Amino acid sequence: MQQASRLRQLPPYLFARIEKKIEEMKERGVDIISLGIGDPDRPTPQHVIEKLAEQAQNPENHRYPTSVGMLEYRKAVAEWYERRFGVSLDPKSEVVTLIGSKEGIGHISFCYVDPGDINLVPDPAYPVYGIGTLLAGGEPYLMPLREENGFLPDLESIPSEVARKAKLMFLNYPNNPTGALADEEFFRQVVEFAKNYDLIVCHDAAYSEITFDGYQAPSFLQVEGAKEVGIEFNSLSKPFNMTGWRIGWAVGNSEVIEALGRLKSNLDSGAFQAIQYAAIEALRGPQDAVRQMQEIYRERRDLVVEGLNSMGWNLKKPKATFYVWAPVPKGYTSSEFAEMLIEKAGVIVTPGIGYGQSGEGYFRIALCLEKDRIQEALERMKKALGKVEF
Ligand SMILES: *Cc1c(COP(=O)(O)O)cnc(C)c1O
Repeated sequence: MQQASRLRQLPPYLFARIEKKIEEMKERGVDIISLGIGDPDRPTPQHVIEKLAEQAQNPENHRYPTSVGMLEYRKAVAEWYERRFGVSLDPKSEVVTLIGSKEGIGHISFCYVDPGDINLVPDPAYPVYGIGTLLAGGEPYLMPLREENGFLPDLESIPSEVARKAKLMFLNYPNNPTGALADEEFFRQVVEFAKNYDLIVCHDAAYSEITFDGYQAPSFLQVEGAKEVGIEFNSLSKPFNMTGWRIGWAVGNSEVIEALGRLKSNLDSGAFQAIQYAAIEALRGPQDAVRQMQEIYRERRDLVVEGLNSMGWNLKKPKATFYVWAPVPKGYTSSEFAEMLIEKAGVIVTPGIGYGQSGEGYFRIALCLEKDRIQEALERMKKALGKVEF
């Protein structure tokens, strides 16, 4: 069976070798500790689960929802934006419900990208920006995120003929995998760039609430003119431990929101209404569970950063996301380093190359594991590595 070129062109799965190694180790009975997976380990807050259970009993929720989402849910998102960022949104025209933000990020290219068009995609990055571009027949133009530039793209280095051809620019701050932050000044430059080149900014704010040490992440939309050029994706997944529920949103420019809603109405029929009710409860209800999770991730972050620094790294503590992004010691590629850690320590970290070519030379640790297991992983790494050099 010949697959379509759109599927065949997708990059090979980079972790296949590592997964094979993990399987071998598990067969040998080795206790593997995974610091690889960016998926909250704690349960969804109880009051949200109870709302789902209650609403699941209502037969009205058993029917097809509307594809753009219940107005009440979109209102709850708009209220949350007003409270959290001081950004006003019209729930009818500037908010669309998504089946997890990944769904919208993957689909947005189908609204704007014709074969041969360019999207500006950060590197390293969450893979869906580039994959969505490829599936729509477009070409990702990679914007390297370099440490010396605070892992922000250097807009001036994008050739103007590329920028003129570009349809979408994907951005993600606080950033997965680097943990980097963007300030409003950077977002202002992005708005100007987007206006100059007539492109649409798609900002992924999945980690806007996973922040520490008093830092509050800005919304792209709080910068003047942002709503004229872009949209923002976010979801309940990370702040409310709801990755399995598949509920998120896109907000911002009404033309873009309309286009995404129209595409969705032809592809899916929206998110289960009982889940939308539960999401309303999460957004409008008490927020102490979010603050507790911030504290839990902060403690784990401190443990990892202090542990790695005691082995010879020189890392600063990231102020957001549940990731630590660190350089690979001298003599290894990122994949070799990850394989060595599995073999010698039974510890899984994610090689940076998995997020793009500019991720080479780094690895990512996810903080989605209890402290005692993180501690154990660090001790094993210390034994396997000794003092590291760069
Ligand atoms: C987790 C994550 C998402 C989205 O997750 P959904 O569960 O689909 O809402 C989006 N972007 C980044 C960078 C993420 O890490």
